[in-house]
Amino acid sequence: MTWNEHTEQKCKRQVPFLDLKQINAPYMDELREAAADVVESGWYIRGNFCEQFENAFAAYCGVKFGVGVGNGLDALTLMLKAEIELGRLRAGDEILVPANTYIATVLAVSAAGLVPVLVEPDEKSFNIDPNRLASACTERTRGILVVHLYGRLASMAAICDFAKSRGLLVFEDCAQAHGARCAFGGNADAVAGSFGAAAAYSFYPTKNLGALGDAGMVVTNDAELARVVRALANYGSERKYVNLYRGVNSRLDEMQAALLLKKLPHLDAWNARRREIAARYLNEIRNPLIGLPEAPANPLEHVWHVFTVRLQSENARDALQKYLEGRGVGTLVFYPIPPHLQKAYGTELGNPGDFPIAENLAKTVISIPVNQVLTDEQVTQVVEVLNEFSC
Ligand SMILES: *Cc1c(COP(=O)(O)O)cnc(C)c1O
Repeated sequence: MTWNEHTEQKCKRQVPFLDLKQINAPYMDELREAAADVVESGWYIRGNFCEQFENAFAAYCGVKFGVGVGNGLDALTLMLKAEIELGRLRAGDEILVPANTYIATVLAVSAAGLVPVLVEPDEKSFNIDPNRLASACTERTRGILVVHLYGRLASMAAICDFAKSRGLLVFEDCAQAHGARCAFGGNADAVAGSFGAAAAYSFYPTKNLGALGDAGMVVTNDAELARVVRALANYGSERKYVNLYRGVNSRLDEMQAALLLKKLPHLDAWNARRREIAARYLNEIRNPLIGLPEAPANPLEHVWHVFTVRLQSENARDALQKYLEGRGVGTLVFYPIPPHLQKAYGTELGNPGDFPIAENLAKTVISIPVNQVLTDEQVTQVVEVLNEFSC
């Protein structure tokens, strides 16, 4: 075997966790065209592409309004700050959030001047456990910020029923769940982002719908909320040099909006391919050491942002990660340290041992490749390698 053949074979056997170049390459012509349109327009912030993408994405989510912002964290923060400006939330109000989520969810609540109160996840779905909401409530609880973690919708029927019974606002962190859907109330096809008062999306490049830079959006049916978010994201201003609120600068630029407009029509097909791969993993991975995630009864509720398996112990998880690395399979851990154990929060959110389920998940989960550019052969390779793993 020549050296070239050798490296070629070795490359063929690599299954990267996520290769963004490969993700975008099939759309090179469309993306080039979009970029050229923006350059030639001579208008780069708050223009037609942003407006078009806001309308297209809001329609995709089945809501009336979309407000483009700079990123997912700002979408979360500004959505909550807007509720404060509108007098529906007050500084110091408590917001329930899942104990196992990305730090952004929690940071947004604090940044808005609200108090995050963590709630343990359900072990099967990895999402906030609706049965633990009541015991987390105090007289200061005013809302629930759910996260559709790993791309799976949280138990929205139970959560919204509970919220209604207590007069709580429901918000969604949809950063991992573009296009996840289920029947809800009278709506046969309710999409992530349409369940509560408002929802935040991120279009970070690795998300199911990813920009080629930072981007985010608040989606809502509430015209007032949309108006205030838009002002807050633009220095608190609706009219140039007239400032209604103490805002920030966080806008979805024309370049990202134009690129996202080209990518949005493909989202459902990408999610379908992710489901296909997830179904194969669920059917074909048979290794008693590897705990598979639960598939929802309705497959459309999950868009498999990541495919997360669980091991018996931290040692086993770390061993699996090393083993897969040696076999050319990329992995990531979402997330190795839960928010309440992050130095950034000291003991404000809790102490070690306070959220044993979230703490154990952080030690035992690992995510394997699942995305639309994986070939059937690569999926087979991942399955075979996992089935051969022993501790
Ligand atoms: C990615 C992500 C965010 C933050 O999005 P950015 O665009 O990176 O700010 C928030 N919440 C969750 C659950 C995420 O996965």
